[in-house]
Amino acid sequence: MRRAALFDLDETLLDRTASLKEFVQWQAAQLLIVDDRERFSERFIELDQSGKVWKDVVYQILIDEFDLSPWSVPQLLKVYLNDFCRFCKARSGASELIDQFLSNGYKIGVVTNGKTPFQENNLNALEFSALIECVVVSEAVDMRKPERAIFELACRQLNAEIGASVFIGDNPIADIKGAKQAGMQTIYVPKDADDELCVYADFTSNDLHQVLAFVDRL
Ligand SMILES: [Mg+2]
Repeated sequence: MRRAALFDLDETLLDRTASLKEFVQWQAAQLLIVDDRERFSERFIELDQSGKVWKDVVYQILIDEFDLSPWSVPQLLKVYLNDFCRFCKARSGASELIDQFLSNGYKIGVVTNGKTPFQENNLNALEFSALIECVVVSEAVDMRKPERAIFELACRQLNAEIGASVFIGDNPIADIKGAKQAGMQTIYVPKDADDELCVYADFTSNDLHQVLAFVDRL
């Protein structure tokens, strides 16, 4: 029976927080005098709300607050869309975890709520992207996690049995509850130790290296 290991992208395979900080500091250096750069970076991260607020809203507020009037929202947004991927780095342990699933005979896929081709570009910037056979971006398929259909679609694309497949993600609802209700096994990998527990998780760890031994037991 073919099995799939499906991963979330932001904060699961991609260390979005660290990547975003580096991108924002690079952009701030182009836009601002030295004193304001740190404040600009902090404000960007704050307004972004872990990716929940789209960047047109973030940039409009930053233009007003930092008096960047020569710049327009579309100009700054274009830089974000084109250049964020140059700063993308993998979450620690992600590469080893993908290798572990591959050596156990799993096909590897990604299911992400986000925009296309932005998310594909970010994934392709990671060193293990060639190992990923299927990428499903919510905007492209007009479905979103936690909808069951998006997990079914990814398994279908990999010709994998959904009941024998596993989902790995950091969001307790969109990733873990959604995948469990679609019939998958679930590995919950919040980034912070104090994140809430998730009753839909078969295994939980905030360190991807700690997941390797669990994969052998699946
Ligand atoms: Mg995530």
